[in-house]
Amino acid sequence: MSANRIIAATPDSRVTAVRASSWGGLFDCAHKWEGEHLLGMRMPAGLRAQLGTAIHASTAKFDAGRLPGGERVTVDDAAGVFVDTLTKPERDVDYTKDDLTVRDAERIGLTLHSMYCLDVSPQFEFQSVEAKLAPVDIDCGGGVIVRLTGTMDRARVATTPAGAVIPDIKSGARVIEKGEVKTKGRSAQLGTYQLMHEQEHRAPTAGGQVIALQTTSKPATGVSPVFDAKRVMLGTEDKPGLIEFAADMFRTGLFPPNPQSLLCSPKYCARWSSCIFHE
Ligand code: SF4
Repeated sequence: MSANRIIAATPDSRVTAVRASSWGGLFDCAHKWEGEHLLGMRMPAGLRAQLGTAIHASTAKFDAGRLPGGERVTVDDAAGVFVDTLTKPERDVDYTKDDLTVRDAERIGLTLHSMYCLDVSPQFEFQSVEAKLAPVDIDCGGGVIVRLTGTMDRARVATTPAGAVIPDIKSGARVIEKGEVKTKGRSAQLGTYQLMHEQEHRAPTAGGQVIALQTTSKPATGVSPVFDAKRVMLGTEDKPGLIEFAADMFRTGLFPPNPQSLLCSPKYCARWSSCIFHE
């Protein structure tokens, strides 16, 4: 990828603003991503997604209290945020979507919350939690600019001897496999955060990392090794990175379908009813 892909927009540019946290989904099924993020197609979340939202809110509250100068938050106080977010969602939730009851979601979530606060969080020295990011503009050619905006949803910045690392919390039923935290497919979002953090702080990052919170009936947590997610975004000397592929999609307006996606289902894709590619 050429370095001049990340530039400043001019008054003549056509700018599309997208949330940095959605960038990973673009490379799962771009057609689905276009439907949801550019065409405004929406569907209610399931209870498992709401469980994820609740545990991200409670762990963020706890970690914010561990920042330098932060006001300490107890594990129990932060657990209150979990219960509130789970039981009083601010969005539509379809309680029939997942094979999970609210009672089970609460039990799993509270267990994971405690495991995270007591065992995982103390392993990190955080600089920021879900920090707001300055926008980054990507030149797609032909006067088309994609503007990455938003906050580091669910991600933190940690201080390590090697430099700043970006740990991103992922929750779900399959985030740990055979005892290993899954990092496959995580580079698009984490690499985006690395790029945005580097632009804002004008200093390199040491990499990204996945903190996994497994929301199965036997909850589990795990932390992946640090890896260079940015490389996947930028590419190498002789291979284009994901930004190059994304730029082609935005410039041409062609967002290819991926019927092999794990989310290709009427349960999870808002474009399902009008999409011909899953047949
Ligand atoms: S139905 Fe499948 S192929 Fe079509 S947009 Fe949704 S996820 Fe992609």
